[in-house]
Amino acid sequence: MTGPRLPPAGPPARQLPERRQSRRNGARQLLHLFEHSASGLLTCDAQGRIVLCSPVAARLLGTEPGTLCGQPLAGWLDPLAASGADAARLFEPGQCETMAHRANGSSFPVELTVSHTRLDGVPQSILILRDITDRRLTQEQLSYLANFDSLTGLPNRTLFRDRLAQAMARARRSRKPMALMLLDLDKFKLINDSLGHEVGDQVLRQVAEMLKGCLRGGDSLARGGGEAPFTVSRLGGDEFTVIAEQLASPEDAALIARRIIEALERPIHLLDHERHVSTSIGISMYPADDTDLDGLIRHTDMAMYRAKAMGRGTYSFFSAELSAELAARLQLENELRQAVERQEFVLHYQPKANLRSGEVVGVEALIRWQPPGRGLVPPDRFISALEDSGMILPVGAWAIRTACAELAAWDRAGLPPLTLAVNLSARQFGQPFLAGFIRDALAEAGISPQRLELELTERLLMEDSGATRGVLGALAAMGVRVAMDDFGTGYSSLSYLKRFDIDTLKIDRSFVSELASDPEDQAIATAIVAMGHSLNMKIVAEGVETEAQAQFLEALGCDEIQGYLLSRPMASAAFVEWMRARQAAERTYGAAPDSDSHPMTLMTMQTLDG
Ligand code: C2E
Ligand code: MG
Ligand code: MG
Repeated sequence: MTGPRLPPAGPPARQLPERRQSRRNGARQLLHLFEHSASGLLTCDAQGRIVLCSPVAARLLGTEPGTLCGQPLAGWLDPLAASGADAARLFEPGQCETMAHRANGSSFPVELTVSHTRLDGVPQSILILRDITDRRLTQEQLSYLANFDSLTGLPNRTLFRDRLAQAMARARRSRKPMALMLLDLDKFKLINDSLGHEVGDQVLRQVAEMLKGCLRGGDSLARGGGEAPFTVSRLGGDEFTVIAEQLASPEDAALIARRIIEALERPIHLLDHERHVSTSIGISMYPADDTDLDGLIRHTDMAMYRAKAMGRGTYSFFSAELSAELAARLQLENELRQAVERQEFVLHYQPKANLRSGEVVGVEALIRWQPPGRGLVPPDRFISALEDSGMILPVGAWAIRTACAELAAWDRAGLPPLTLAVNLSARQFGQPFLAGFIRDALAEAGISPQRLELELTERLLMEDSGATRGVLGALAAMGVRVAMDDFGTGYSSLSYLKRFDIDTLKIDRSFVSELASDPEDQAIATAIVAMGHSLNMKIVAEGVETEAQAQFLEALGCDEIQGYLLSRPMASAAFVEWMRARQAAERTYGAAPDSDSHPMTLMTMQTLDG
């Protein structure tokens, strides 16, 4: 048996032309690819000479394929080894970016893909060329945006950090100290708020120009020459930095800071305004102050804050004491943050009495901090930290709400209808909703607005922003009273007493303490009482400790007194007890102005008893 027969193989004579045909087609395709590929194609021999060149490659290089063939690749592409070297050593296989040179001498960036092969045993390199001019441009634009501030054209925070790291490295190598300066414009927010952001932007642009200008001519300070000794950057907002290199000593840095301060003192011309700006500068030295980049920036920041605190328009160097001071401050702020969370604050109340009748008419709420396991902390130790950190807003709101609720509880307990004074920080007046908040707190407690008095300091009114006036107006419309606290210690300008609706003046303790003996204090107290009364204000003397002081004040016609003579501030429960004891004593001894016992005697007695 024979198996099934396979069909006979086709005749070889027919196969050959088909294969040839398809090979020919393939070759045409390859040629087409070679000629029309968007990338330029080149091959070169082991000597680095161009063997084959596609029309696109020739066009990219600004010439004809015929011109290129046989030429050394070295003349057309970077990076290039010594001429005549092995092509395999000119470029590593793989992809790289390099520069190509046109026949006319101009250059452009290319992406190069290289592979090494053998053709009939002869080594050969294949190169694919792509013009990446557009991509580079986009990259450069992106990198500009990532590294430069679009408003001023100065390096931004990112580039600043790079430049600082480089400057630190140079300072290490050259052993010449370097200064980092942090500039913060004084009251820039005011310009922005009052004249608008566009004007603010103009100011920033001009400040950037002034900074560059005043440092440009300053190379005389640079000892080494060579590299540019100054780098100006803008960190954002109104914060600029200057890196000053190759200094001989910190005095050089001080000289530069003074030059900057003077330069910025010149008026800035805006569309229709002329403005003066000033700047505060913090300085730290590398490597003396810190060897770490972030540490150096932090120290410069501390120094800048001190310059601000020193009164603006000035500079300050970082110092170790400053660091200790700031560390303590930070620690305090952290503790206070916890205190806010854990509600560790309490209010004490100090009574005020009518000087003629001796009757207790009101109280002032005074805050204290009760950290667990420690004694009560007085407000002078923490109020400014609360203000700086913004925590005064929740704490101040708590104080108002708590004091109102306490007053309502005293009413229910049968105490006479007292008035309540609460201290407010300037910071709280920045809140547009303050008046609304106070209205709600009063309504919640069921207290009439006329019984609340807010104690403000002179600083608040001196800064006189439109917002302050708005809030004061809204409070006055509600019937809430306003007292000027610590009167006489600030600028005591009559104009703002008139401009703002002030109901009460509180003569500062410092004028009261020597009142019985110091003629100058007597003159001041006399003037305050007379002036206040002529403006229809009530006068309260604070810090009254002796009967002699009280009698002097009474003779002047002062309305109320507050102080240790009457009582120290007390916790709420103690205050209620104190009031009850006092009411009982009044019933026993009588306290009418015409009785034998002078009201002051009653006050003293109560203090001794209580
Ligand atoms: P202030 O409003 O001027 O309060 C009067 C300060 O004088 C109180 O100090 C009070 O205890 C003290 N004092 C009262 N009578 C006498 C006296 O006869 N002799 C002496 N030597 N001192 C007397 P305190 O409680 O330490 O408060 C200090 C300051 O802290 C207050 O001054 C006020 O400006 C601020 N403060 C207190 N509570 C608050 C608050 O809730 N919010 C805000 N923003 N500030 C507050
Ligand atoms: Mg007060
Ligand atoms: Mg006071």
